[in-house]
Amino acid sequence: MSPEEFRQAGYQAIDWVADYMARLGDLPVKSSVEPGDVRAMLPAEAPALGEDFADVLADLDRVILPGITHWQAPGFFAYFSANASGPSALADLVSSGLGAQGMMWDTGPAVTELEQHVLDWLAVEMDLPEKFRGNGVIQDSASSSTLCAILAARHRAGGIDALPNLVAYASEHAHSSVEKGLRVAGIPADRLRSIATTPDYAMRADHLAYEIVKDKNDGLTPFFVAATVGTTATTGIDPLTEVAWVASNFDAWTHVDAAFAGTAALCPEMRFLNAGLETADSYVFNPHKWLLTNFDCSAFYVADRASLTEALSITPEYLRNPVSEAGTVVDYRDWQVPLGRRFRALKLWFVIRHYGVEGLRAHIRRHVAWARELTEWVEADHRFELAAPTVVSLVCFRHKDGNKATSRILEAVNQSGRAYLTSTTLGGQIILRVAIGSPQTERHHIEDLWNLIQSAA
Ligand code: PLP
Repeated sequence: MSPEEFRQAGYQAIDWVADYMARLGDLPVKSSVEPGDVRAMLPAEAPALGEDFADVLADLDRVILPGITHWQAPGFFAYFSANASGPSALADLVSSGLGAQGMMWDTGPAVTELEQHVLDWLAVEMDLPEKFRGNGVIQDSASSSTLCAILAARHRAGGIDALPNLVAYASEHAHSSVEKGLRVAGIPADRLRSIATTPDYAMRADHLAYEIVKDKNDGLTPFFVAATVGTTATTGIDPLTEVAWVASNFDAWTHVDAAFAGTAALCPEMRFLNAGLETADSYVFNPHKWLLTNFDCSAFYVADRASLTEALSITPEYLRNPVSEAGTVVDYRDWQVPLGRRFRALKLWFVIRHYGVEGLRAHIRRHVAWARELTEWVEADHRFELAAPTVVSLVCFRHKDGNKATSRILEAVNQSGRAYLTSTTLGGQIILRVAIGSPQTERHHIEDLWNLIQSAA
């Protein structure tokens, strides 16, 4: 494809995406294809000869769109949002066009330095502790960030030789990525202690202390504590100050997973989310969840970068270069599992410059305000009860008549095509989760959802 052909095809592709964005509100939110439907529309063999780009684009409508659940639809309230935006999509396009590799400063100075810079911008605007500034890196996901935190903690605790004795801790509501990261790092599930929570689904620091002391007395090495700011089920907030205090008393690493909720700390009135963070060793939040930045973009900060880079750095001859050897630059290949890395910082740069920090704050504040309103509507309806406090923009509730009634509502909402919800189970009770965070959602979409829920109740 010559540059001129790219230009022409590019116009068509951008037109297609812009049209898609414009009609998102009219599409059924959840795909209703059956397993195998999409593959059945694809030719069995790859084309031997190249095809016209227009034909490929036409197949987006025919083959792909029916099999898409529209995460950017205004009626998408399932899971947690996965924000996309125009500036972010354009940055991804530029990144792909550049095709630059940022594995080391030397292979892409701008890739590295822009990443350091925008992560510092965010650290300042979110009022993250001073120690995280200059120590940020973009990972593909919160799961990878947590894995890196585990690998750094394992290194600090003695590395692979210490493996047989290592024990980790997380609340019973921590994300499954903690267990997965431990498994990858060689620490089996029976070495992950599940810590009990309060009625608000926050980790009980006294139970954590009890488990750690018990393990210490048994000759084991507590090495890693995962605290969550915004659990997946209910956005429960672990008490970071107490948790990190207990962990640090036993030389265990405290990692804070704020994948979804962390973004809200951009707003000064939500800074309670950062309380106690100054005692943590590492922190992750996902701009790709709530900061108008397309997947993948996970911001990971580490206080002691040496533990991370010593755990992950291997330097074969072919990667040696004078600037790295002089030690004056950051080589992000040592901050992650893969060697290669693309130019993700462009997304944050485009997004922050397009919306401005105040624009990003407004994006979050709208969702938080609507979540509070919805919470009040739930409280005012005698048929429903809240299942957890509304901390940021996730509202959790159930029908008082029980699981059957709650499931009936879930089904009715999802079958309507106008909205999409997912549920969770707490203490045997099915709970509806309304996760507000889609860029195109307006207040009337929340009203529409509430009407749907009420008429199915
Ligand atoms: N941690 C929490 C608290 C989450 O809610 C999620 C996903 O929703 C994750 C981690 C995993 O995020 P990722 O897909 O970026 O690995």
